[in-house]
Amino acid sequence: MEKSKALFNRAVKVMPGGVNSPVRAFKAVGGNPLFIDRADGPKIYDADGKGYIDYVSSWGPMILGHNNPKIRDAVKAAAQKGLSFGAPAEAEVKLAEKITNFTGIEMVRMVNSGTEAVMSALRLARAYTNRKKIIKFAGCYHGHSDSMLVKAGSGALTTGEPDSLGVTGAVAEDTLVAAYNDLGSVEALLKQYEVACVIVEPVAANMGVVLPRDGFLSGLRGLCDTYSALLVFDEVITGFRLGRGGAQEYYGVRADLVTSGKIIGGGMPVGAYGGKKAIMEYISPCGAVYQAGTLSGNPIAMAAGLAQLAMLENDEVYKHIDQMCVKLANGMSAAIKDLGLKACVNQVGSLCCMFFGIETADDYQAVMGADTKLYARYFREMLAAGIYLAPSQFEAMFVSFAHTGNDITETLNKAEMVLRKMKSEGAL
Ligand SMILES: *Cc1c(COP(=O)(O)O)cnc(C)c1O
Repeated sequence: MEKSKALFNRAVKVMPGGVNSPVRAFKAVGGNPLFIDRADGPKIYDADGKGYIDYVSSWGPMILGHNNPKIRDAVKAAAQKGLSFGAPAEAEVKLAEKITNFTGIEMVRMVNSGTEAVMSALRLARAYTNRKKIIKFAGCYHGHSDSMLVKAGSGALTTGEPDSLGVTGAVAEDTLVAAYNDLGSVEALLKQYEVACVIVEPVAANMGVVLPRDGFLSGLRGLCDTYSALLVFDEVITGFRLGRGGAQEYYGVRADLVTSGKIIGGGMPVGAYGGKKAIMEYISPCGAVYQAGTLSGNPIAMAAGLAQLAMLENDEVYKHIDQMCVKLANGMSAAIKDLGLKACVNQVGSLCCMFFGIETADDYQAVMGADTKLYARYFREMLAAGIYLAPSQFEAMFVSFAHTGNDITETLNKAEMVLRKMKSEGAL
């Protein structure tokens, strides 16, 4: 902890909160953030050299585990040839071919983050439909572009209030907020307003993990068709994680536009948005929707993404990560039952989340009832025991191909030990 603490003391002097992305500051769980020195396979190592089994996986990208030798070699080879050209290169074509091939999306545009992908997809949806309003769901995260920093006031079907200072009321006004897993809330808005698109995380993985109810995603498809709105799946987390075809394939529902990020960069900063050719050709230079990027399609990032996606052609990857995640979720559920705790676990594919203080977590309302203080305590105890969880109740656990059965067993043993201790001390 010593070196992390010293680094954090320096960091807060020169960076707001000492971090470059807010959750990293551990505000939701207390204590100082660990500064990471290196990562390998399922583990990350802090500045003091202590190792932790990691379930953050850089928030999703590291689906094969950390420091994968093939990705590392691909990056090294690309770096030998120059770091950026600002002109087309073969690797961009290859990655675009891989993405379209895996997902059935016809065309993609590469950008540098999930935020950018979403922001651009929304602009495109507005241009294509010639409509202004967008429907999003409370509790779904789509990056930090202005129009997406809006959620519902106490679950009501209202025109959005900005979530962040600096977002103007005029921007927020065009963002309508519906309730996840509640088709009625969507239809009410579609009836009342001319809506360009409905954007959804097919599995909500930024309010913990909340699964779509049966019929929710296909219901959205139907509603969008009825009201001539585009359906946008934000697959920045689910893409290439629920399977090569992402949530579209997993749930058998096709979106008009899909946003990607995280996994497609193999750990480098990459995002992408894509869809049918007829829609994508509205983008400049084919059409009049402007969107550009100095470093978009960066050769190093493309090389990392390509190497990662190539390895995802192996079905064993998905078989393994799903199995490991089921083992993890079942183990946590068993511990909850054995100890008689009020808590629950949601899991799909290689994503899962344990919620404290609630018995079901099937929508935003339910999840907001979770006991974040208990989670914070659990987080700190697990960290001390060598398990690195997300520093917030409202984030997913990501299982990677590098997690072994032994890693999961060790994690479950420690979780049980921590939960038993919390119970004996009267916290649970
Ligand atoms: C992480 C995330 C984003 C934003 O991606 P960044 O690369 O952090 O900008 C957008 N949508 C979803 C669903 C995400 O999980």
